[in-house]
Amino acid sequence: MPQPAPFSVIGHADGYGGRLLVTCEHASNVVPAPLTHTAGDQRWLDDHWGWDIGAPDVVRELVRLKDCVAVLCGFSRLVLDPNRDVTHPDLIRREVYGEPLSFNVNLDAEEVNRRITELYAPYHDAIDKALHARLAVGGDVVLLSMHSFTPKLDDDVRAMEIGVLYDNYDAVAERLADAFREQGFVTALNEPYSGRTGLIFAANRHGREHGVIYIELEIRQDLIDTPAKAIAVARRMEPAISSLQIRDTPR
Ligand SMILES: [Zn+2]
Repeated sequence: MPQPAPFSVIGHADGYGGRLLVTCEHASNVVPAPLTHTAGDQRWLDDHWGWDIGAPDVVRELVRLKDCVAVLCGFSRLVLDPNRDVTHPDLIRREVYGEPLSFNVNLDAEEVNRRITELYAPYHDAIDKALHARLAVGGDVVLLSMHSFTPKLDDDVRAMEIGVLYDNYDAVAERLADAFREQGFVTALNEPYSGRTGLIFAANRHGREHGVIYIELEIRQDLIDTPAKAIAVARRMEPAISSLQIRDTPR
């Protein structure tokens, strides 16, 4: 079987897209070979533990509407979470609610390093490459890391529909949240968790490295759990994202 790629790039990979550059760290629930998984693992892989339900569909529609570029991850966060620093304790989860993940049993340092080299690094390198190409065109760039969250996590019922997560660029985050509210979304800042706690790793890493504005967006999964719903939400989000007042891109 052909090995699935650790990432995919859609849209203007040559850098001539608009001012948006979108990433999707949890776009996939693939467990890539040589790893295998069991029927028991599949339950978690299909659930929000395995990937961000609906998020890649939103990203694809935004790329189509905005004529921009996006980098989507090609492996499950349960294999290795590209939205965590390599030193983070949840980089590779051994279990979910006490049930072990078969492909993470008996992990040794060599296997962790293999996953970092063959999966994590290529994904992050692809974001760097896309940002380099896009920045070479000129004009400001907004890096949006697109995610989705479960409506209910244990006893935590989440009423907000969109969370705008940030640890920098507070004013941009607040303007974007207001713009989403104008589109009718129940929008919260730094919820369902705060961007100030190190959990918007990918946006922070690449935004800081390249000196671009970065924000993570979290969309409630029940709004986008079919392709048609995700497309509809992306179309409602697009005017808000487009209304952000930053310098336009020379074309
Ligand atoms: Zn996510």
